[in-house]
Amino acid sequence: MQVIPKSPIWAQVESASRPGSLYDVRVEDERVTCTCPHWTYRMSKVPDGRCKHIDAVSIYYTANRGMFDGTQ
Ligand SMILES: [Zn+2]
Repeated sequence: MQVIPKSPIWAQVESASRPGSLYDVRVEDERVTCTCPHWTYRMSKVPDGRCKHIDAVSIYYTANRGMFDGTQ
């Protein structure tokens, strides 16, 4: 899954089911949000809910230390 970093608190991930469409993964008020339907309609109601896009971004930023936690 391709991750496109935009800022320390914002990345985009290409949809696996809809190539060419991008979902926004952001850090907002200490919680990570995603604009995909799965997160919007289901995981947003779950404490610390994550989707595969959030997981992909988390892995990417962990591998590229200093980003996504605002320290870059
Ligand atoms: Zn998502």
